[in-house]
Amino acid sequence: MNFYSTNNTDHQVEFKEAVFNSMPQDKGLYMPASIPKLSDKFLNNLDEYTLPEIAFKVASAMLDGAIPEEDLKEIIHDAINFLAPVVKLEEPVYVLELFHGPSLAFKDFGARFMSRVMSWFLSVGEKQLDVLVATSGDTGGAVALGFLGVPDTRVTILYPKGKVSEIQELQLTTNGQNIRALEIDGTFDDCQALVKQAFTDKELNEKFRLTSANSINIARLIPQTFYYFNAYAQLLRQGKNKVVFSVPSGNFGNIGAGLLAWKMGLPVHRFIAATNANDTVPAYLKTGIYEPKPSVQTLSNAMDVGNPSNWARIADLFKEDVSALTGLISGYSYDDEQTKEAIQQVFDKYNYVVCPHTAIAWKALKEWEVANPSNDITGVFLSTAHPCKFPDAFPAEISDAIVVPESVKELEGKEKQAVALGKDFEGFKAFLLANN
Ligand SMILES: *Cc1c(COP(=O)(O)O)cnc(C)c1O
Repeated sequence: MNFYSTNNTDHQVEFKEAVFNSMPQDKGLYMPASIPKLSDKFLNNLDEYTLPEIAFKVASAMLDGAIPEEDLKEIIHDAINFLAPVVKLEEPVYVLELFHGPSLAFKDFGARFMSRVMSWFLSVGEKQLDVLVATSGDTGGAVALGFLGVPDTRVTILYPKGKVSEIQELQLTTNGQNIRALEIDGTFDDCQALVKQAFTDKELNEKFRLTSANSINIARLIPQTFYYFNAYAQLLRQGKNKVVFSVPSGNFGNIGAGLLAWKMGLPVHRFIAATNANDTVPAYLKTGIYEPKPSVQTLSNAMDVGNPSNWARIADLFKEDVSALTGLISGYSYDDEQTKEAIQQVFDKYNYVVCPHTAIAWKALKEWEVANPSNDITGVFLSTAHPCKFPDAFPAEISDAIVVPESVKELEGKEKQAVALGKDFEGFKAFLLANN
């Protein structure tokens, strides 16, 4: 399977190149040159397959031999080694829990699969891969834990001092092995600027094999399709086959993967794009005008994106067929007050705690259901992170009810190891050169 750039479909590369480049030089995004349609036999019998079995079927159709099947199977079993259960809260409202991986966020699916794919492509004798990531919280944890112990790779994470939650910081700074954390005296934008400059620095690029493990990497998108198929499989087992997915969205990689699954044949009735005040896409779905804006800060900060990078992929999937797109996706956006209300309502109604991102997806689903009454549609909202990652988002009554996973309790006993650096490039570069 070749992958083309959304800016130039004639520019095609093999999977390996798409993975290591992350982004084509023309600043488009890589997309599969043709999207495979899965067989009806598989789609109608999804309920007979486990998550790793589904993942293997989907990935092998998409990669079309780029990785031999036995190796791909091994990569999947190693990467997708946790569950993604669909849990009923009330009829017909279900939650797809995507936070059972090591960093307690859905980004584990993408990061774990990508890390193993990259490692597989590094042939014997090749230079170690140096992954540089800037994070505002969730991405860094998923990438750090995704690459932890993966042969021939090393990860350097830059995070803004004092601006990530305690658990996020522990996930970044207590790994050791091939993971190191830099605590930058600056903002997330400063961290990102340092990483970007490193990629254009001649000396660093001669010395190291740098890669970004960026969230727009195609190897992060593909594994996110797995859990849509798997959620549908779980509902089929309960005799339900008309499903709406409500997805808390920022950069639109998560919902983009859902739409890719739909293109591969998953019969989803509708997608709901749920955002915070950064409402570029819901506004577009309402007005037909796509107008990126600078991002504003909110309580659901992993979705503070005013110009979602994966939108180019979604537009590409629909090839400017705007009516097909608006026919399949509804958009809703909520401010912080509404997010807090939703967290409280979910707690009062179901005695269940959702993180601020997830709360937005629940509220959008409820609003859609009120406007579209039906007795045969099942609504599923995606829970993108465990609420314990955002302890400051809750009143005491709710935070006391959060069941903290064992893995987090273990983290709390560990010592933070991070190198403190300023936001100047020279200091960052000197660190990289001195610590090879
Ligand atoms: C990254 C993230 C999102 C946004 O996902 P996109 O793929 O960027 O739309 C939502 N919730 C949480 C908790 C996240 O970490």
